[in-house]
Amino acid sequence: HDKDLGHMFKASQMAVRLATPQQLQPKPDNDEELGFGKLFTDHMLKIYYHKSLGGWQKPEITPLENLVMHPAAKVLHYAVELFEGMKAYRGVDGKIRIFRPDMNMNRMNLAAQRSGLPTFEGKEFVQCLSRLLSIDSEWVPHTEAASLYIRPTLIGIDPTLGVASSDSALLYSILSPVGSYFKTGSNGAVSLLADPSYTRAWPGGVGNRKMGSNYAPTINVQKEAAARGLQQVLWLYGEDHQLTEVGTMNIFMFYVNDQGEQELITPPLNGLILPGITRDSILAMTRQWGKFKVREATFTMPMVSELLNQGRLLELFGTGTACVVSPINRINYLGQDLYIPTMEQEKPVHELIRETLTDIQYGKVDHPWSVVI
Ligand code: PMP
Repeated sequence: HDKDLGHMFKASQMAVRLATPQQLQPKPDNDEELGFGKLFTDHMLKIYYHKSLGGWQKPEITPLENLVMHPAAKVLHYAVELFEGMKAYRGVDGKIRIFRPDMNMNRMNLAAQRSGLPTFEGKEFVQCLSRLLSIDSEWVPHTEAASLYIRPTLIGIDPTLGVASSDSALLYSILSPVGSYFKTGSNGAVSLLADPSYTRAWPGGVGNRKMGSNYAPTINVQKEAAARGLQQVLWLYGEDHQLTEVGTMNIFMFYVNDQGEQELITPPLNGLILPGITRDSILAMTRQWGKFKVREATFTMPMVSELLNQGRLLELFGTGTACVVSPINRINYLGQDLYIPTMEQEKPVHELIRETLTDIQYGKVDHPWSVVI
């Protein structure tokens, strides 16, 4: 534990090396064409950890530049890597806000612990990120159709091949202006491939941590979905085909329960589920509304089929930082197309949720979840 005590970095020790005028990149002029994670801002944040030098070193902001590391660096062999996904929003008042950053920091430290990487003070890192954001503040898009994605990353860079905890690490962050995450068809709803032969996470595994090693094995399945004309993968688990997550989103179902009441349901944090910050916010918000029942419980594909047949399934949607809310209109399951009436509701719950959350994120409504930087 001693590596965690007394060797923490402080935002106040920050060194800043600004990009030269020649290094500055032109800013995009069309927010509609940004896509996701293709462009990066002028600067980045770096904080090295070296056990031999007493732990965390001073934070630095530098021009965006390539990283140099030894070819034996653990990250390159054993995927000793974890990351976060946050956004900075330019509010209607011109101020820049981030959303519940303390939750990203907690999630990051849990992943660091599980990966044998050093932990850190989340508050100090958020202050470092705020400094980076203020230096690159002109990159925060001026429209509500876009935002500045923040990608904090922690890698093990020890130049040794042992499968062991890393005595040196790099915590860094890059920033990327982004538009909407998904290229969708007509009305913004997505179609899903639900193939029970693939598993994203399992009990005792790390599906509940945002580690790079969880994502590489999903790429080919996503490709298979695309080849079949489907936009995302619905990750199932177990003999009973439990719904766990959709793509890189948590999943919610709005339906009429056995008592005839409207209920919003999402799988519980049982180790198979990434503890989404959007998920947590939606649960807190809708419980406070008191308009319908809200429950964390497992649900399965046979249940989805039966509810559909009985006309009791109202909406199905994914949730996450990238998209806020992504409605689902079709699931291809065991060779059959299940049509979900998410977009056919008169006053859809997923739209109310999206509006309430984006009003907070873009500063239309004051809320403690939104932190002005
Ligand atoms: N599930 C997975 C697998 C994810 O990668 C993400 C994105 N972080 C989410 C869910 C949604 O989490 P959040 O609401 O914190 O963005």
